[in-house]
Amino acid sequence: MKKQSPKDRIKNFNEVALGMSEEEAVKEASRCLFCKEPKCSANCPVEIDIYRFIDAIKNKKFDEAIKVIKEKNNLPGVCGRVCPQEDQCEGACILNAKNKPINIGALERFAADWELNQLSAISSSAKGETSPATAGGQLSAKTGAKVAVIGSGPAGLTCAGDLAMMDYKVTVFEALHTAGGVLVYGIPEFRLPKEIVKKEVDYLKSLGVEIIENFIVGKTSTLKELFAQGYKAVFIGTGAGLPSFMNIPGENLNRVYSSNELLTRANLMKAYLFPDFDTPINIGKKVAVIGGGNTAMDSARVSLRLGAEKVYIVYRRSEKEMPARKEEVENAKEEGIEFHILTLPKRIVSDDKNFVKAMECIKMELGESDASGRRRPVPIHGSEFIMDVDTVVVAIGQSPNPVFLKATPELKLGKWDKIVVDSKTQATNIKGVYAGGDATLGNDTVIAAMGAGKRAAKAITLHLSILNAQV
Ligand SMILES: Cc1cc2nc3c(=O)[nH]c(=O)nc-3n(C[C@H](O)[C@H](O)[C@H](O)COP(=O)(O)OP(=O)(O)OC[C@H]3O[C@@H](n4cnc5c(N)ncnc54)[C@H](O)[C@@H]3O)c2cc1C
Repeated sequence: MKKQSPKDRIKNFNEVALGMSEEEAVKEASRCLFCKEPKCSANCPVEIDIYRFIDAIKNKKFDEAIKVIKEKNNLPGVCGRVCPQEDQCEGACILNAKNKPINIGALERFAADWELNQLSAISSSAKGETSPATAGGQLSAKTGAKVAVIGSGPAGLTCAGDLAMMDYKVTVFEALHTAGGVLVYGIPEFRLPKEIVKKEVDYLKSLGVEIIENFIVGKTSTLKELFAQGYKAVFIGTGAGLPSFMNIPGENLNRVYSSNELLTRANLMKAYLFPDFDTPINIGKKVAVIGGGNTAMDSARVSLRLGAEKVYIVYRRSEKEMPARKEEVENAKEEGIEFHILTLPKRIVSDDKNFVKAMECIKMELGESDASGRRRPVPIHGSEFIMDVDTVVVAIGQSPNPVFLKATPELKLGKWDKIVVDSKTQATNIKGVYAGGDATLGNDTVIAAMGAGKRAAKAITLHLSILNAQV
């Protein structure tokens, strides 16, 4: 897929990957071997019928392609852009043997964008109509029971969409002023344009999903109050938005950010458009981002676009162990971000005004494997050195959002306060209450959150039909 050149893209927040033309998509789809027993679908957490949608693209039936995808996935424009396909569908593609798997993610994105373009064309000529592919999604009067969904990230949105398609009245309660969870406050515009997220959320609304923003369950209403208001089942998709810190000296200095604060200011509050938008951000000239996941790559690339002259990734293991998508590591390197691997920060040094002046680090080497199967990083004594930086972004992980959990002590939690669920049904220990996504998994992926939302929707349907039979 074509991309903006690194020289141009570091000066703007526009999308980096530019998508495929019709001709390119058909050509790519034509490379598919259409295996008798396709492994790609089996490796998709939401079980998209990849064979059928690629076949439709090959035959230029783009409306058919998006219909097939939407049988299983209500957020195709999102997934086509951010799913780790290399570990899933594309990872299972038989053409990996030749090192050239089908670019399934790009084809999914192509089909989603094709439909969104059709919709834009229709809505500018004849308002109110929908494309043939979404005709089934017309708003209808829902007759089923009321279900509440807490949180509008991919887990909540998927659960809500599936239930709405089965005719339940679904209300999503979202704490922030915009729906989408990490898709709007975390992942930057240049990887996932917010217009795409909005259009896919609008599609869910067209299925009948009601979304109430600025509503914090646990504060505005409790779980018990939702049941008292007539909701017959509840899905918790509150995510993992509580930042972790390293607990080293200097972490409370000015210009030390959690990745959450940096990314929320930049993405949700549009700090990169300050003063046209109210939220400012104070980024220095030399930024160290601590961590090796997608959040770290996003923080580094956002810092660059906000005007930093030098940006470093500081990661305590080797590049092989980095959890970030390979594509994002490559993009970061192309943009000039410098990687300090096998490096651990020890303290952040202050100037006389309590701003970051430098960071002391120590070099590491890899020792024995730890519980995660990865080799444990071990400090090399005497290898301390000072890094000349004036901003530090801590991107070492998040744990589940605590507000709802604190207000619901009857909910069973496990390690790191993750909600304990049955892995097949997503049921919690409270009857009629289900949970999924990062609130149960910790920091995971969009598609894993969606898979959990789907399993929960299925289980909720069963639960409601049993309740109904008892009446
Ligand atoms: C910067 C960043 C980059 C990432 N990049 C990728 C990527 O490239 N590919 C990928 O697959 N995954 C990526 N991930 C991970 C992925 O985004 C998450 O795994 C996924 O969003 C989890 O979905 P979720 O629905 O469980 O939670 P979230 O997306 O976190 O949504 C939870 C929602 O619940 C709301 N909420 C919380 N508490 C309450 C409450 N009490 N009442 C009402 N609402 C509440 C929150 O405001 C939020 O909107 C990234 C994560 C981050 C942070």
